[in-house]
Amino acid sequence: MLHPCLKPPSLMRMALAALAAAASVAAVAEPTVTRLTPPSELFSSNTPAPVIARFLPGQRFDLQATLRPDDASKTISQAIFTIDGKTVDANVAMRTCDTACLRGVTPNTSIATVRAVTVMKPGVHEFTVSARQSDGLMVTARGNFEIVPFTAGGQKVKNVIILLGDGMGAAQRTAARIVRGGYAQGKNIEPLAMDTFPVTGMVKTSSLNSIVTDSSPGMTSYVSGNKNNNNEEGVFPDDTTDPFDNPRIEYLSEYLHRTQGKALGVVTTADVFDATPAGNAVHTSNRGAGTGIVDQFLDDRGLTGLSVLMGGGRRWFLPAATAGSGRSDRNDYAFSHTDPHTAEIVRRWGASPGAVDPQRDLIADFQSAGFKYAGSKAELDAADTKDGKLLGLFALSNMNVALDKIDGRRGKKTGGANVGVQGSVVDDYGFPDQPMLDEMAAKALDTLSRHKQGFVLMIEGASIDKQAHNMDSERWMLDTIEFDRAIRLAQEFARKSGDTLVIVTADHECSGAALIGGSRLTDAKLVEATAKGGKESLRDPVVGVYEQAGFPKYRIAADGYPETTDIDFKLLVGYGANADRFEDWRTNARPLQDPQQPFVKNQPMASYPTLNDRDKAGNFVVTGQVPGESAVHTATDIPLSAFGPGAYVFTGVIDNTDVFFKIAQATTRGAVTPGAMAPRSSKKK
Ligand SMILES: [Zn+2]
Repeated sequence: MLHPCLKPPSLMRMALAALAAAASVAAVAEPTVTRLTPPSELFSSNTPAPVIARFLPGQRFDLQATLRPDDASKTISQAIFTIDGKTVDANVAMRTCDTACLRGVTPNTSIATVRAVTVMKPGVHEFTVSARQSDGLMVTARGNFEIVPFTAGGQKVKNVIILLGDGMGAAQRTAARIVRGGYAQGKNIEPLAMDTFPVTGMVKTSSLNSIVTDSSPGMTSYVSGNKNNNNEEGVFPDDTTDPFDNPRIEYLSEYLHRTQGKALGVVTTADVFDATPAGNAVHTSNRGAGTGIVDQFLDDRGLTGLSVLMGGGRRWFLPAATAGSGRSDRNDYAFSHTDPHTAEIVRRWGASPGAVDPQRDLIADFQSAGFKYAGSKAELDAADTKDGKLLGLFALSNMNVALDKIDGRRGKKTGGANVGVQGSVVDDYGFPDQPMLDEMAAKALDTLSRHKQGFVLMIEGASIDKQAHNMDSERWMLDTIEFDRAIRLAQEFARKSGDTLVIVTADHECSGAALIGGSRLTDAKLVEATAKGGKESLRDPVVGVYEQAGFPKYRIAADGYPETTDIDFKLLVGYGANADRFEDWRTNARPLQDPQQPFVKNQPMASYPTLNDRDKAGNFVVTGQVPGESAVHTATDIPLSAFGPGAYVFTGVIDNTDVFFKIAQATTRGAVTPGAMAPRSSKKK
């Protein structure tokens, strides 16, 4: 609402006096800048390094400042931003409101924002905000960010496939190798696909506000180049209560769609609103805001190029009146046309204004936009996606895990389950015909190949993490094997295409999983030990360490998964980030209750175990160090493997945000020019 008309020189003089006040709470009465975005150590601790926020030349991001008057009778009347001493030539949107829309700040605090700023010139840039209080008092604060230069040379990559094994640390990878590939004479017989990638590095996974990240900033670091707070996706933190109005950072998908016309594919075994899938296309500070998140997938496809979306999460796509729907006006978004704070997201970013519409039929809206829809594996196989657009929703919330899907398939053939499960979980859930991740990946690659300008495809093995949280060893092992089958497909695609870069990594480790050894008992003896119960029966005579562990030998069936996970002398897993749990080492007949799952098939969730009652019969309690009923993420570095042109830079110990810049280099090779960076006019839908 206010235009920057103050002259920078006069502001600069006042800036010096105000600088010290800006960095900490002011002791004297004057307005203060309590937050300056992009975040920087220059602002928070007045030290110029390290620079926190980094962007590509021309990558869009928002500038924002939280401005506090020195008492509640005054207001902030005006603010301007400068970059390298030059006033930013764009509208500064001001939002002033009470504690209803601002969080943890004093009344009359204002938020000043400039949306969708770009800087082309490489190097470190200093930026400032200067604000005038209603009584004329001024304040200025400064921060910095860096523009990372493109370097010329090397092969330009057309397609990027990011395979994200959620929670997949080194232990999860190793376990899948032991179970799937076996060992003899101390050597692995058959490697995992990810083991054959030529380059591997270690990734530091911290988020903006913790050494231990959750999946939101874990994903977005790879596709935005910046650290986000836990639970936040594609945005920097702010002081408003609205989860959709935060300062945005342009995603890899948006940058490459805007500058090169690339398409985006998102494939997951989780609910598609989950942090990892949403962290490629959706901007929100609340990873739980399901209705708004899935709406934004469709509504902002003109920004992201979203063309393939597959996973669970049908509940968000069904009108609120439909059984199983999760849509709600409480977690939706709508940007006001009259409030410049959010209207500028529409005007400057070209984003959809959204609407609070719990009765929306989002599947029908996807279909109207040209997407083919599949609700089962049979429909997925039958879908004709030569137009390059596909929506697949195979469960109401998270899809069932590989062990339960395979069990369902085998049960259909043989009339009996044989992975180690009793009864068909997929039938209980009401979705007996769910595709495996590699089957979804194959269809996604086929569909995205129709896009002549190339694509970015993120494929997530989601329940490696979810089942590690549950400390359900066999379930995360089989999900890692399922994930590796998708990796093999991506690798074959890349080998044929010759211009596809494939990255396999995780967002963080989960559960502190450790391969502690092998069982010293046959499965029959383990059943007896469980009947006897207690630590005397289930720990000391069972856990074989060092040479007692030997080499557990799993027999692999024709479908690529173990015939059974309850073999004699099986692989044993301990957890270093665990909650209290009972342990009997045998495959759990049923997965733990999934609190996100809105069962509609008259199957009460209560018939599934919780952590407190699973394996209770064995009466062997493993005391955990973490509270609650779930193992937690850890801060441990995770491995990253790369294949294809551009792979060789993904080595060493790198920051998760480095991955973004390495991918961007491979797809751009210094070929971006300022002319190519003009924002596209927003597409009307
Ligand atoms: Zn997790």
